[in-house]
Amino acid sequence: MSIVRMHVADFTAAQAPAIEAARPLYERYVVPSYARSLSVTRGSGAWLWDEDGKRYLDLGGGVAVNCLGHAHPRIARALQEQSGVLIHASNLYHHRPQAELARKIVGLTGPGKVFFCNSGAEANETLIKLARRHGHAQGRFEVITALNSFHGRTFAGISATGQQKVKDSFEPLLPGFVHVPYNDLAAVEAAITPKTAAVLIEGIQGEGGIFPATPEYLQGLRALTRKHGLLLLWDGVQCGCFRTGHFHSYQTLLEGVPGGADFLPDGIAMAKSLGGGFPIGAAWIAEPYQDVFQPGSHGSTFGGTPLACAVALAVIDEIESKGLDRNVVEMGRRLAGGLREMMAEKPLITGVRGMGGMIGMVLREDAPGACARLRDSGLLTVPAGGHAVRFLPPYNVTADEIDEALRIVRAAL
Ligand code: PLP
Repeated sequence: MSIVRMHVADFTAAQAPAIEAARPLYERYVVPSYARSLSVTRGSGAWLWDEDGKRYLDLGGGVAVNCLGHAHPRIARALQEQSGVLIHASNLYHHRPQAELARKIVGLTGPGKVFFCNSGAEANETLIKLARRHGHAQGRFEVITALNSFHGRTFAGISATGQQKVKDSFEPLLPGFVHVPYNDLAAVEAAITPKTAAVLIEGIQGEGGIFPATPEYLQGLRALTRKHGLLLLWDGVQCGCFRTGHFHSYQTLLEGVPGGADFLPDGIAMAKSLGGGFPIGAAWIAEPYQDVFQPGSHGSTFGGTPLACAVALAVIDEIESKGLDRNVVEMGRRLAGGLREMMAEKPLITGVRGMGGMIGMVLREDAPGACARLRDSGLLTVPAGGHAVRFLPPYNVTADEIDEALRIVRAAL
């Protein structure tokens, strides 16, 4: 049998179990830590198909991950080309894709260096470990975070998260986290003690219900953390990687604000859209702290593989070269504008928040029910806190697709 025919035969055999419906297998074999709905089989652009062949307009984007939509040829090509050269090489060696991606991220952010991992939670772990290590000699270890925040499901992640529901029954948690109201500078100042090492915030609270930070809060936090010698750590896992039009959401939140262009955190966590669907996480660390982690102090077997980095480089290039950063802003405005217009005829919608590809439609009643109704009508969204339905569309979403989403919302609610 020729090599080509062997591959076809293997492929067919590997696909055979897919004929069996996935749901009963989940019930029998997969830990039920998620409330799942559809059984999906394939995607293309902003569209996703279920096992029965029904098509859905996917504006949930794999929870802010599929920034180029599904099955994007550029991602498929990067995966194919890089996997034929080198998939994994361990972090005991140098390789070009990781070096180039680090250079790209530094170029889009500011002077510093990048640590690579595989997820948002790990990127935040890196920032929290940075804070601990940096403050260690002075006995500083506390990290101030915001109420209603979300920072991941690891122990440091749930300890940092300002929502009780993620912590329930996992106590004792990692010590040293203090939660204060978001967008409240005075509350942060009041929480600073001689033990404080850092402040960690999301630029736009995502899981919490799409709450953007105000420019005054951000600039105030930067001044306050400098004054007290604290690190300002930025969780850009959901709101970053061009989701708001700029690579980082602070660049959007502070656009046109006097002094806004000078704002730079000391550490930034990234993941989700960075790989467009292929797992990768990264922590950018500002120049003064960039060498805090010396060999043996932090690591990740899979962090920054040649394959993951090649995909991330392709994703960033596709966004920049096709102007998808501008498109997502325009489409976000169209969506938010359409939803706002609908508020007059739909009293169930009580508000619209967010920017770019991160829009929250706030409802009078609980969001999970509304997301289920939208899903049954062919539109995929993601529930969030504060009765919000999240729209996290791909950056290449079209005006027709946004209009179709608005039509479905109007009909379903
Ligand atoms: N930080 C934020 C702001 C997030 O929204 C998430 C995930 O939703 C995380 C961290 C955790 O990322 P991951 O699920 O990749 O670990």
